[in-house]
Amino acid sequence: GPEYIRAIAPYQAGKPIAEVAREFGLDEANIVKLASNENPFGVPESSKQAMLQAAAELARYPDSNGFELKTALAKRYDVPMDCITLGNGSNDILEIAAKAFVQKGDAVLYAQYSFAVYALAAQGLGARAIVVPAVDHGHDLDAMAAAIDQDTKLVFIANPNNPTGTFLPAAKLEAFLDKVPANVIVVLDEAYNEFLAPQDQYESTAWVRKYPNLIVSRTFSKAYGLAGLRVGFAIAQPAVTDLMNRVRQPFNVNSLAQAAAVAALNDTAFLKKSAENNTAGYQQYVQAFEEMGLQYVPSYGNFVLVKVGEDEGAGARVNVALLKQGVIVRPVGAYGLPQWLRISIGLPQENAACIAALKKALA
Ligand code: PMP
Repeated sequence: GPEYIRAIAPYQAGKPIAEVAREFGLDEANIVKLASNENPFGVPESSKQAMLQAAAELARYPDSNGFELKTALAKRYDVPMDCITLGNGSNDILEIAAKAFVQKGDAVLYAQYSFAVYALAAQGLGARAIVVPAVDHGHDLDAMAAAIDQDTKLVFIANPNNPTGTFLPAAKLEAFLDKVPANVIVVLDEAYNEFLAPQDQYESTAWVRKYPNLIVSRTFSKAYGLAGLRVGFAIAQPAVTDLMNRVRQPFNVNSLAQAAAVAALNDTAFLKKSAENNTAGYQQYVQAFEEMGLQYVPSYGNFVLVKVGEDEGAGARVNVALLKQGVIVRPVGAYGLPQWLRISIGLPQENAACIAALKKALA
């Protein structure tokens, strides 16, 4: 295979519960998984019902154009349907965007400590990945704007960012978008948008009217509780959406996923419950970290990054100590953060179990 493919470091997902149970001789029922920023409430009941109905039609292909889901999204975000692209998770959206706008040798820009799939999407096409150093674990938008040159075809920005949880307020993002040349695509990855407090929310889905080079990416994997179904979407101008539609796989979102997503989108009570649980759970961690004297990065997502030691082996070591106690979190050494762990916010009792295990591990 090509050298640029062999140079790719494979994505490392959170360890599954069954594997940890087997490896550490634990009962699956006693394991707490806080490793993949999943929704601790599970699948919304409304989505389960919708999937049961959709299951009767599984002998047929899914609607390749996702009519019902696009109709619901167009209504929710007040955009025409030809501004919407559906993806097999938002990872698919990130890849589709890269495939539509980047070719071998082009430059793709993203921040240090930002989401791992940006590197994969760029490297898979043989593009040059330009990683702009972070400030305070977050995006340095001035440095990113300055790093754009004639080779740059696409910029990835995660807001809030994973794995650090940092956030860029609307005014900073708009100032950045005003500086980016119109022939450079900006993918604004908002996988954690629904967890933002009301005072931090902003109308990026309306910005696509003003910025012809903007792609806003969202997902049903986090606040909507549908990670296993793989469904995400993008909002962009019709010309951009048209190019994305040409390179996506036909039938890229399955029938169950489409049905469940429509139901979840209309289930505002579930979304509210998820956001409220997240706010309370975050406070639980912050309080514990402060008591324990641990440094953490203030987070706007459904997870928090905490420093568990000073040496380069700290993250990996404490991770194993937590696994032995049946708590699965995410080591972030592959992101260049070997002293840190990323912990997803769960139910109050899951957070308490994680905090107790962390205290024991660090004692
Ligand atoms: N973007 C960011 C910033 C993420 O953290 C994730 C999930 N890890 C994704 C995109 C992709 O999520 P999904 O493919 O499940 O929509």
